[in-house]
Amino acid sequence: MDCPNCLIPMVPEGDRFYCPACPRYALKGDSAEDIEEHEIERRLALSLLNSALAPRDRQAMEDKAFTDAMEALMGQTIQTRGCPNCGGTMYKTVDTDENGNPTNESQFICNSCGTMA
Ligand SMILES: [Zn+2]
Ligand SMILES: [Zn+2]
Repeated sequence: MDCPNCLIPMVPEGDRFYCPACPRYALKGDSAEDIEEHEIERRLALSLLNSALAPRDRQAMEDKAFTDAMEALMGQTIQTRGCPNCGGTMYKTVDTDENGNPTNESQFICNSCGTMA
């Protein structure tokens, strides 16, 4: 069985055939059209996966940027945890003495809904 895209033989592995040059795969007895269909489905699944992951990555980056900025501004250590109320990110500040020992801690406050804990 040849890859319809690369025109080279596909390599059997388990019950599938994989193209060594591109991500296409074939099931036994697949036509060229079937192989292209698998590839379209694979790309679609991948783009759905990417768009599902993207917002969470962005949220994590924003959280990181926020704590970095706050720490630079206030000379305090900031700790984070998940908010039990809304699933957002809660922050608390920890003042430290010159030896790095905590001297004063605030409560956790949610950045999204304002819940304190
Ligand atoms: Zn190929
Ligand atoms: Zn919250």
